Amino acid sequence: MLLVTVPHAKREASGDHDEGSIRMIPHLKRALDNEGVDYEILVGDTYRSIIDLNRGEARNTEFAKDMRRLLKKSRYHIDLHSFPDVSQDASEEESITAMGDDIRNWALSDVVFLTIPDITDPVFLEEMKMGLEETVIVDDIQTDDYNFITVFSQVAMDVPSILLELNEGSVQAYPAVAAEIARVVGRLLGSVVA
Ligand SMILES: [Zn+2]
Repeated sequence: MLLVTVPHAKREASGDHDEGSIRMIPHLKRALDNEGVDYEILVGDTYRSIIDLNRGEARNTEFAKDMRRLLKKSRYHIDLHSFPDVSQDASEEESITAMGDDIRNWALSDVVFLTIPDITDPVFLEEMKMGLEETVIVDDIQTDDYNFITVFSQVAMDVPSILLELNEGSVQAYPAVAAEIARVVGRLLGSVVA
């Protein structure tokens, strides 16, 4: 089974949610159904400004409990996020995240993988990158281990996990991105001996 987590899916007035990831969900469902992939999509229902489900502070939430339960049945995991399409001449203030990442670098691509050295599964990452590169512009950017969900999946549950960030300016490409994700996972699950 594939587990997809969408932790920042509760819309809030501040805009501090992942609008692109919310809009991707129906495309992803359709594509995974078409490909016959067994999957679950776990959608966060908590305001990020109250508790960020992608941080260790969220480890005792219902979301984290559901995630643990689903990961026990999963062979692959994708943590799905999105980022605003800032322009290249945006100010530092608009572009640097709380964790110090510069979104201007991300915005050059349609899809960005945030990889954590020695944690992110290199095979799953490479397969997904190669697949998506045929359709859209892809980058991978090294990040740190504050991304609770993907780290938990890899380290505590031993489920190969990637963190995927969608450019919110690339919505027209979401159906094609979803189809490619489904193809890659379908192929990987098909090739794994049960
Ligand atoms: Zn996010």
